[in-house]
Amino acid sequence: MTAESFLDAENADTPMSDIDKKRKTRQNKLQKRLRREVGQAIEAFNMIEEGDKVMVCLSGGKDSYAMLDILLNLQKSAPVNFELVAVNLDQKQPGFPEHILPEYLASIGVPFHIVERDTYSIVKEVVPEGKTTCGLCSRLRRGTLYGFADEIGANKIALGHHRDDILETFFLNMFYGGKLKAMPPKLVSDDGKNMVIRPLAYAREKDIAEYAELKGFPIIPCNLCGSQENLQRQVIKEMLQGWDKSHPGRIETMFRSLCNVVPSHLADTALFDFKGLQLGFPHGIVDPNAAAGFRAESEEDTPKGNGDVQMMERIDILSL
Ligand code: SF4
Repeated sequence: MTAESFLDAENADTPMSDIDKKRKTRQNKLQKRLRREVGQAIEAFNMIEEGDKVMVCLSGGKDSYAMLDILLNLQKSAPVNFELVAVNLDQKQPGFPEHILPEYLASIGVPFHIVERDTYSIVKEVVPEGKTTCGLCSRLRRGTLYGFADEIGANKIALGHHRDDILETFFLNMFYGGKLKAMPPKLVSDDGKNMVIRPLAYAREKDIAEYAELKGFPIIPCNLCGSQENLQRQVIKEMLQGWDKSHPGRIETMFRSLCNVVPSHLADTALFDFKGLQLGFPHGIVDPNAAAGFRAESEEDTPKGNGDVQMMERIDILSL
């Protein structure tokens, strides 16, 4: 080795190992945060219980990789025993690299299934040229995955939606659908057969993206089929990202508001008995036990962290 190449090697090695150390530290920090947020969401919504078989839906995107990684991590120390099975639906989009997910899943030693259904052809046949295909594509994917959960005896289906997806859906429904409705961290499917959970409900998209990058997950882009994401969702996403830059903390506050609903201060007559309001009772509620769930506007909230268990428990009371 010449003196120059020795120096080159030395220069290349030293900063690299420092960078590696920094990356590792950052990765550990993010993993800790994501573990905490996923653990808090699981507990707050009772997402996973003893003996559950959880089907973890894996698209090949950063969110589902991170979800599987964190769930596997939590499984080792969780107070309950549960099974995890990773499932990917190969929808036969042109260019989908079929080998990536099986290779990755085999390498981490998790039980998995690859389900092959050509929903791509159906979507192409049904959706007129030039229109976005994501809506139908997602519905077909959901239907297939729900059916497969029954086949393998999974009683829970884990999806990788995170806090930002939930907020985007909330604003989409408000702006374009006239509804105050988001994406719940836990729900029963319309046919009543499947329990869907979203363990990343408290996790920030930017943390997930950074974690995925540091872990080097073999990401498969969703837009291989050439379709565009729903334009309205893109508009909302940009709006939220803009707010996040100009008003740091606003996203966190907005998400907290979804966990602090006061039906008596909205205007939905099906949700709150405005007609039956009576003087002399706090917030017009005759049943004092029911009143515990409704707070006066004057009871100011103390800002709390995402995972404040007390705060998160309120959603259970209010959604009864
Ligand atoms: S981008 Fe393509 S594969 Fe992804 S949801 Fe839309 S239609 Fe389906």
